[in-house]
Amino acid sequence: MIHLPNSFQPFCDDLIFGMTQKDFGSLNDESRDFDFFLKKLAQETKGIQPVFANQMHGEDVMVIKNPPRIKPECDGFITRQKKVPLLIKIADCQGVLIYDFQTKTVAAVHSGWRGSAKNIIGKTIKTMKEMGCNASDLVIAISPSLGSCCAEFSDPFRELPKECHPYIMPKNRVDFWSLSKEQCLEQGVPESQIEITGICTQCHPESCFSHRNGDLGRMGAFIMLK
Ligand SMILES: [Zn+2]
Repeated sequence: MIHLPNSFQPFCDDLIFGMTQKDFGSLNDESRDFDFFLKKLAQETKGIQPVFANQMHGEDVMVIKNPPRIKPECDGFITRQKKVPLLIKIADCQGVLIYDFQTKTVAAVHSGWRGSAKNIIGKTIKTMKEMGCNASDLVIAISPSLGSCCAEFSDPFRELPKECHPYIMPKNRVDFWSLSKEQCLEQGVPESQIEITGICTQCHPESCFSHRNGDLGRMGAFIMLK
């Protein structure tokens, strides 16, 4: 199945988007399922292949003008080009889809705990603003990912920068969903335009791959301007 965030539904005429679930198969580069996914996506995109990265758990976001020839090393993409599907691969980390419905700009971001600590979401929104986007025109959806029920650290006050400390919960757990929401709000995105799927990948092995559950498989979050 492909999960379609509610907040993006009004933009079906402009966009192809979604978040794959476990039954869709794993999107590891070499896997058969990934081939299958590419074929399925190609039906939607009329044969256009997605741009995806060697995800580095960093904060680099690439603005795509032409699809890169080699697989870039980064954790986010922004584009205004039509027919360039952006694909993020995830299993516990957040896949973050962003759409500016005024300037028709899309972004896809990989925000694991390291990306959250580096505020890659805020950095992406800042870059979009530099490109002329207004935060008030952004719609954002965050994929199934590790919830505060399961995001346990051995010593989060030491492992995470101080900006993350307000999100540390009892039993050394961290609420990354709230942190991501705050990172969007800080940039001026209206709260009503931020959708957190709210499904914890570790708690839902029937529908989600989870690195912490020992899965090697990856789910995808993708977005394309038609
Ligand atoms: Zn959980």
